Amino acid sequence: MTDFGGSIKKTDEFQFAILGIPFDEKSCYLKGVSKGPRAIREASTGEAINPWTESGINLEEETVIVDLGDVDVTGSFWDVFERTGVRVREILEKRAVPIVLGGDHSLTYPIVKAFALKYDHLDILHFDAHPDLYDELYGDRYSHGCPFARIIEERIVANLVQVGIRAATGEHRELAAEKGIRMIEMKDIADVGSLHFDNPLYISFDVDALDPAFAPGVSHHEPGGLTTRQALNMIHDLKGTIVGMDVVEVNPDRDPAGITAPVAVKIIMEVIGKIVASRKKKTEETS
Ligand code: MN
Ligand code: MN
Repeated sequence: MTDFGGSIKKTDEFQFAILGIPFDEKSCYLKGVSKGPRAIREASTGEAINPWTESGINLEEETVIVDLGDVDVTGSFWDVFERTGVRVREILEKRAVPIVLGGDHSLTYPIVKAFALKYDHLDILHFDAHPDLYDELYGDRYSHGCPFARIIEERIVANLVQVGIRAATGEHRELAAEKGIRMIEMKDIADVGSLHFDNPLYISFDVDALDPAFAPGVSHHEPGGLTTRQALNMIHDLKGTIVGMDVVEVNPDRDPAGITAPVAVKIIMEVIGKIVASRKKKTEETS
């Protein structure tokens, strides 16, 4: 069950749609992130959660969110990528905002491809400990370590900004410099002001961007990461029009205390709240 403080409705008319993809075939190390969507949904349910966001939006009353269930993950990974694209396009055709629950990070590639069919110019804000820019990882060009290499190669992103990075290789840094990827590494994080995006913005949130102290339920523990507060502040402070997001790499097997899925819930609620707040502001300005 998905709840988000009573915000989830059952209706055909909606502004936001949650879509789960319980897929971890492209994880290169540990399995377990296929259980992410279920853990996030469970964490969204309970009396501890109310529908208010920090930006002062009541999600239960001020917007309509639905849960469209999971993508069928049977068959080959190509089948899963294909179905992912179809489901995301269906949401975009309804002029709604897709909120995708992974699953491993390889899924961002077919998701962004679907967005690229709608948006000629798309910016991406990518939270991650890792640049995910490997041309291939252990012989696999579609590994969860490679989605942004594919996205750059296919020129389906106008501007890519990566935040939280602390496991970049020399090859990653060279590619970033060559392709104009803005890689904001953890070592430089103190200097980051408000991020500005001119084109429609997609947020891809790999929860390992956060320090393992805040989000231990990930397959790759990379010390020295963002606090949950830093990530939320960056989201609140950014300037741009958010058109979709994914939250990937939640691995409940690594999280006996169950503190990582609630972080995903919080981030999702704050992103939705930000979108609703900015639309509300626009409506007030034009009326
Ligand atoms: Mn990643
Ligand atoms: Mn990562």
